[in-house]
Amino acid sequence: MAVSDHVDLNGFMEGVKKRNPYQPEFVQAVQEVAEDIFEFMEDKEEYHSQQILRRIAEPDRVVSFRVCWEDDAGNIRVQRGWRVQNNNAIGPYKGGIRFHPSVNESVLKFLAFEQTFKNALTGLPMGGGKGGSNFNPKGKSVREIMRFCQSFMTELYRHIGADVDVPAGDIGVGAREIGFMFGQYKRITNNFTGVLTGKGLEWGGSLIRTEATGYGAVYFLAEMLATKGEDLAGKTAVISGSGNVATHAAEKIVQLGGKVLTLSDSGGFIHDPDGITQEKIDWVKSHKTHRRGRIEDYVAAFPKATFHAGKTPWGVPCDVALPCATQNELLGEDAKTLIANGCRAVSEGANMPTDLDGVHAFKAAKILYAPGKASNAGGVAVSGLEMSQNSERRSWKEEELQQMLKDIMSGIHQSCIRYGDQGGGYIDYVKGANIAGFKKVADAMLAFGVV
Ligand code: NDP
Repeated sequence: MAVSDHVDLNGFMEGVKKRNPYQPEFVQAVQEVAEDIFEFMEDKEEYHSQQILRRIAEPDRVVSFRVCWEDDAGNIRVQRGWRVQNNNAIGPYKGGIRFHPSVNESVLKFLAFEQTFKNALTGLPMGGGKGGSNFNPKGKSVREIMRFCQSFMTELYRHIGADVDVPAGDIGVGAREIGFMFGQYKRITNNFTGVLTGKGLEWGGSLIRTEATGYGAVYFLAEMLATKGEDLAGKTAVISGSGNVATHAAEKIVQLGGKVLTLSDSGGFIHDPDGITQEKIDWVKSHKTHRRGRIEDYVAAFPKATFHAGKTPWGVPCDVALPCATQNELLGEDAKTLIANGCRAVSEGANMPTDLDGVHAFKAAKILYAPGKASNAGGVAVSGLEMSQNSERRSWKEEELQQMLKDIMSGIHQSCIRYGDQGGGYIDYVKGANIAGFKKVADAMLAFGVV
């Protein structure tokens, strides 16, 4: 007789912890999803008997490889590279590449797992994956970065393809790095295909891909506020990070009439009580991206601002907050401080920036709280549109893409309401996103049988 997977949530999580020792980020991401899915699956025997959640929480494959490169001084350097292909039930694996010294298998497995649900939520046919390396681009010359990217792709190319797995950028990987990797892919395979997204406009890229994650997170925030009859005009916003997602989120907040008070990097945060205007955002973009500078230099350029070394910005009173730097940057105590200071809405631009205590605090306070897998899906959504444009060998206009991005964010918001409406005017966006993403992937997996 077949044995059904009728362990409870605790039993399930015990198994996940046992099978993934020393992988706290991955366990945390699975726990956050499992808390909602167990309740949803209660009366759905097929998901249990087919072990669907257990299967989604076991990556299809994890490829780990050595990346050797030569620095400018002629030293041979050795890094580790990975590609985690989590699930391709609804489309080719899709997810970014991260270059940061904190990258390890746990971080990439959590990101690939989250990506599976996020990509399903967009409504586009994309599975979930993620990759990267513990290579630290900070302080490296452009030629060193080029040599590293080429070496990384020399191994990665055999695991990806336009219909197999389509990587994009993430922390430490922007248009320049995508260019170096695409060039090497093309050189090795002699194929010009849409194998990466986030490409330059001249060679197959899509308009608004750069802006899409940050803009999308603010569109999602506006959708949440609208359920309370509010908008962003006149609202104060606290934002962490000063990279691609943070600066574009700040830009869209300003465009919609809000006032951005903070930005940050790994050195600390700046607080500008006058508001970070478009001109100041342009300065930050140029300083951080082109000059590879530090956010603390902002106070020399704009002296009314203050710099707070080694701190995160969550103690600054605000109406809305957007964590846009990295995972676990907003802890339980920070969440309580935001709530106590009157913050009404949180939209995550980063992936899993809030730890489990923080998630539970936001849920208990019943504020508007969007998890990254819903609110930051705009980036991968436009990446999906870049794939469609590549397949069709055409480019859509900016207005068309802006409208598609807005429609997709609005569709994700609707999906969250569908499965997360708790009555009494409270929408549990975490639950809504988890269930909507899970259901789509799970139903596809059921159709395929045991594979
Ligand atoms: P960038 O590399 O452009 O910027 C990252 C920013 O976060 C920098 O300001 C960086 O500071 C800061 N940061 C990185 N690590 C830490 C740390 N350990 N502590 C404090 N600050 C840190 O990356 P993105 O803006 O692209 O990505 C930011 C987040 O958004 C990530 O979680 C990413 O996964 C997520 N995301 C990105 C998407 C995209 O389209 N780019 C799509 C969906 C999600 P410093 O310069 O000091 O390192």
